[in-house]
Amino acid sequence: MGSARLAAKRGVDAVARAERDVQRQAERIRELFLAAAVTAASAEEQIAETVALGCRLVGCEAGAVFELDRAVDDESPVPERLCRLGLGTEGTLALDDLQGLPYIAADDDGKPSGFVAYIGAPIMVRGVVVGTLNFATKQQREEPFSETDRDLVQLISALIGSAIDRRRSRERLRRLAYFDTLTGLPNRVQFVERLRETVTGIVSAGERRRLAVVFLDLDHFKEINDTFGHGRGDAVLSVVGERLRERVGDRGMVARMSGDEFAVLLERGPDLEEVDAFAESLRAAIDAPIVIGGYEQYATASIGVSIYPEDGTDAETLVKHADVAMYRAKEKGRNFVQFYTPVLNAAMTTRLQQEKALRKALARSEFLVYYQPQFELATGKLFGIEALVRWHHPKLGLIRPDLFIPNAESSSVIVLIGELVMEMACQQLVKWQRRGLPELRVSVNLSARQFHETDLLKRARSVLESTGLDPQTLEFEITESVAMDDAERSTEIMRTLRDVGIRFCLDDFGTSYSSLGYLKSFPIDTLKIDQSFVRDIMTEQDDATIVRTVIAMAHNLGLDVCAEGTETEDQLNFLRQNTCDRVQGYFYSRPVPPEEFERFVDDALAAKQPAQSEAGSAV
Ligand code: C2E
Ligand code: CA
Ligand code: CA
Repeated sequence: MGSARLAAKRGVDAVARAERDVQRQAERIRELFLAAAVTAASAEEQIAETVALGCRLVGCEAGAVFELDRAVDDESPVPERLCRLGLGTEGTLALDDLQGLPYIAADDDGKPSGFVAYIGAPIMVRGVVVGTLNFATKQQREEPFSETDRDLVQLISALIGSAIDRRRSRERLRRLAYFDTLTGLPNRVQFVERLRETVTGIVSAGERRRLAVVFLDLDHFKEINDTFGHGRGDAVLSVVGERLRERVGDRGMVARMSGDEFAVLLERGPDLEEVDAFAESLRAAIDAPIVIGGYEQYATASIGVSIYPEDGTDAETLVKHADVAMYRAKEKGRNFVQFYTPVLNAAMTTRLQQEKALRKALARSEFLVYYQPQFELATGKLFGIEALVRWHHPKLGLIRPDLFIPNAESSSVIVLIGELVMEMACQQLVKWQRRGLPELRVSVNLSARQFHETDLLKRARSVLESTGLDPQTLEFEITESVAMDDAERSTEIMRTLRDVGIRFCLDDFGTSYSSLGYLKSFPIDTLKIDQSFVRDIMTEQDDATIVRTVIAMAHNLGLDVCAEGTETEDQLNFLRQNTCDRVQGYFYSRPVPPEEFERFVDDALAAKQPAQSEAGSAV
C-alpha cells in the first residue's frame, strides 16, 4: 500500500471511528441522562449507581469516588494512590498501559495492583475540588482512552459532584434540623426521635429495661438575660450544656429542648435510686458557679424525671410527664429534683382516679410511718418524735407525703390516711414504751378535714383506748391556717381534746397569718417555727430577727418553741443562744423507719449523747 493510500485509509478509518464514536457517545449520554433523571432515594445511592453505570460505559471493571474530606474506604476497588492521580489535573487524566509505572505498580499496601489502564477526573463542588472520580481496569485495552471517553468521565464526575453537593446540603440541613446551633447539642426533634427509637427497640427486643427522661429548666433564666444581656445568657446556656454533656457521657443523650430547657435520656437500664442520685448530680453540676469573663454567675435548675415504662410507654407521654414533674419542681421552690408520679398529673388523672389510687393504697396497706426525733436544746435529751407518713408504692417506691397529701386533702381519703397514721404512731409508741425506751412524746399531723370535719375527740379516744397510750404523750400538729379557719370553733375543738390530756402544736409557724391576738387564745402548748426561717438564720438578718422575736414572744405567752429543719451546728448554736426549747432536723436525723429509730436510740443511749444519724435509707 502506497503512503497516500495508507493516509487515505487512515483518514477513512478516522472518520469511521469518529462517526462510530459520536453515535456511541450519544447512546452513552442518553443512558447517563436517564440514570441521572431517576432520583435515587439518597445522594449516596445515586453516587454508587452512577459509578457503577460509569464503569460499564467507560469499559472498566473498577470504579470509585475518592473524597478528600472523608475517611478512605478500605473496600474501594481502586487504590488510594491511583485515585489521587486525578486530583491535581484539570480535566481528565487517562493513562493507558500504566504497567511498570511506580505509582500504580502496587496498591496502597504494597501488593501489585494489576491495573493496567486508568481514567479519572476531579470532582468539583461549587468551584472547589472535593475529590476524584476514578475508573481502572486490569484488562489490556484495544484502544487508548479517547477524547469522548474523557468527556464522558467529566460528565459523570459533574453528576457525582452535584450528588455530593446535594448530600452536603442535606447534611447541613440535618445539622440545622437536628442540632441546636448555640450549644451544638441535639435538639428537641432529635431527642424525641431517639427516645422513640429506643422505646421501640426495647419493645421489639422484649427487653425489660428501664429508661429515664430527665427534664431540666433553668430557674430565673430570664433575669440573667434581662440583667446581664443575651450574650451572658448564651454563655450560661453553653456552659450548662457542656456540664450536662460531661456528666452524662456515654450513658445517654443530652439535648437542648428550647430556650433554657434541657433534657437527658438515660439509656443504661437505671434503677430508680440511681436515677435519683444521677438527677441530683446534674442539679449539683448546674448549681456550681459559672465563671464568665471573670465574673461568677449562678444558675440553678428545676428538674423533672419520668421513667419508662412506669410513667409512659411512648416518647410523647414520657416527655410530657417529665415536663409535668419539672413544673412541680418549680412550684416546690426550684433547684429541686421531682419524679413524676401518676397522682401528680392532675390534668390527665381525674380527682376520682387519684382518690381511687389512694384508697387502693390504703386497702393494700402501702402507707408507712417514719419517725423524726425532736431534742431538748438545753439538755440535749431526746424529747419526742414526729410521725410522718410515707407511701410505699409497689412500682414507684417510697413517695414523700408532699406528693400525695395535697391530692388526698381534696377528698375524704385524707381522713382515712390521717387516722391510720394516728393509730400506727400510737401503737408504735406503746410498743417502744414496753421495750423500755425513754419516755417520748409523739406528734401527729392533722389535716384540715380531720380537724374540722370529723369527730376528732371520738376518734382520738378510740385510738387511745385501743392502743392503751397515755394521752399526755400524744400531741397533734395543726397549721395556723387550719386553726384560723373558724378560729372560735377551732379553739373549742382544741379545748375538748386538751381536757383529755392531748396537746397541740402550731405547725409551720410564720408561713401564714401569724395573728398574735388569736395565738393568745388558742389552747396550744408549742409553736413550731417553720423550716424556711431556720434555713436562713445564719445568712438572712431578717430571718434571724424573726426567729429571735418569735421565741421571745412565744415564751411570753407561756409556749414552748420547736425549730424544725435544723440542719447545721451553727443553726443549732444560734437557736440555743436564743433559748429555743426544742429542735428537729437533719442535723440529728432525717425521718426514719421504726427499726432505724430503735437503732438510733440504742446508739444514742450507748453514747449518752444524741448522735447524728447517717440515716441513708430515709427520705
Ligand atoms: P411538716 O409537718 O412540716 O413536716 C416536716 C417536714 O420537714 C418533713 O417532711 C421532714 O422530713 C422535713 N424535715 C425535717 N427536718 C428537716 C431538715 O433538717 N431539713 C429539711 N430540708 N427538711 C426537714 P415530710 O416528711 O416530707 O413531710 C412533708 C409534709 O407532709 C409535712 O410537713 C406535713 O405537712 C405532711 N404530712 C406528713 N405526714 C402527714 C400525716 O400523717 N398527715 C398529714 N395530714 N400530713 C402529713
Ligand atoms: Ca408537722
Ligand atoms: Ca412543719
